[in-house]
Amino acid sequence: MVFEHAEKMIDNVSKKLPITEEALRLLLSHKQVSRGLIKLDGKQFTAWRAIHNDALGPGKGGIRYHEDVSEDEVKALSFWMSIKNALVGLPFGGAKGGIKINPKEHTQNVLEIVSREYINLFAEFIGPDKDIPAPDVNTDSVIMGYMLDQYEKNVGYHAPAAITAKPIELGGIALRNGATAYGGFVVFKEFIKRIKLKNPTVAIQGFGKVGLNMATLLHNAGFKVVAVSDSGGGIKSDNGIDIPKVIKVKKEKGSVTQMQGIEIVSNEDLLCLPADILIPAALENQITKANANNICTNYILELANGPVTPEADEILYSKGVISVPDILANAGGVSASYMEWVNSKAGGIFEEETLRLKLDKIMIDAFNKVYDYWFKNQDIDMKTAAYVIAVKRILDAEKARGRI
Ligand code: NAD
Repeated sequence: MVFEHAEKMIDNVSKKLPITEEALRLLLSHKQVSRGLIKLDGKQFTAWRAIHNDALGPGKGGIRYHEDVSEDEVKALSFWMSIKNALVGLPFGGAKGGIKINPKEHTQNVLEIVSREYINLFAEFIGPDKDIPAPDVNTDSVIMGYMLDQYEKNVGYHAPAAITAKPIELGGIALRNGATAYGGFVVFKEFIKRIKLKNPTVAIQGFGKVGLNMATLLHNAGFKVVAVSDSGGGIKSDNGIDIPKVIKVKKEKGSVTQMQGIEIVSNEDLLCLPADILIPAALENQITKANANNICTNYILELANGPVTPEADEILYSKGVISVPDILANAGGVSASYMEWVNSKAGGIFEEETLRLKLDKIMIDAFNKVYDYWFKNQDIDMKTAAYVIAVKRILDAEKARGRI
């Protein structure tokens, strides 16, 4: 996602919500963008941490390790986190961080040093009530463990609420694993209830952490998953795919396409299969103006971040395809992070079941808010409806602070 997308979305929002020049300037600027250099063995890695908006609370967002990370990307993603956090009603602003590094070229030992250096660079801006990092692309709970340890060394006291998706041993919660797919599944069930769709068939693009977990949840609940894919290609079966069997094949042989006795489809074909609901759960920009016209499901649940480009959104809307937007459908991860943050602040007193029930409520409430608003305003798509709700919440908080 580039920051231009953010400008386009705010422009769409302004058709429903009056946005003054002052408010627009605020929405399109960042509270803080910090950058630094991590030097190691003669190599240099640029690192960033950006806080977009903090009207609703401390910054919250992941840290990604990728050779293509750029300042524009970190800024765009921190904007996106402000919107997502505001939409689901969390007491957080939006933040994001990244290091321009290809983790596959480095040992775990190097990644540990780089992760600790990242915290040394930005420790003064991080904290349970300032900015709370979490994992993102190519970072995980092990990296969060190093980061929490380094943060606590910097400040000189224990502060488990400073980082989420940390190891269970350091105050992480089991619920955080698989929470993105779980939240998506809660939204899926509410959505089919509202549109009165009985026993929908589902095609899922992407069979990684999010796609695989979503396929498992759907399969276990008795829904028919008729197609799945990974970067090697896809498979389809009108009778429904045996998901536990595909998971085994994927683990043993590396791709879902190694499954025997099943029809193979290309990645492009998978997007255009006649299922009821398409769930993109792979990468950004998969449905574009080049293929949006070929989509033949009536509904899309966006589990990946930004799987549909703004141009494709317009085409799908004009075709009557209803898309549940990513900022709603994949907010389960950050919402579970919120539960972990609350638990860490409270000294770890909550049972997992209590946290899970609260996560369900957060997702269901957010879905109903978006669906109800969109249902009354069908001249916009559900993504714009979600943005209107989120932007209003941020601007109301800005007003209450007397900043605008
Ligand atoms: P992952 O790397 O575990 O899995 C990605 C999957 O997509 C892999 O199976 C890969 O083979 C597949 N893939 C790649 N290119 C493909 C293509 N052209 N066609 C079909 N499949 C393809 O990543 P993930 O954590 O599952 O994340 C997936 C998406 O969900 C990303 O957009 C990510 O930003 C978003 N997301 C993830 C989380 C999370 O908690 N992991 C949270 C919010 C959003």
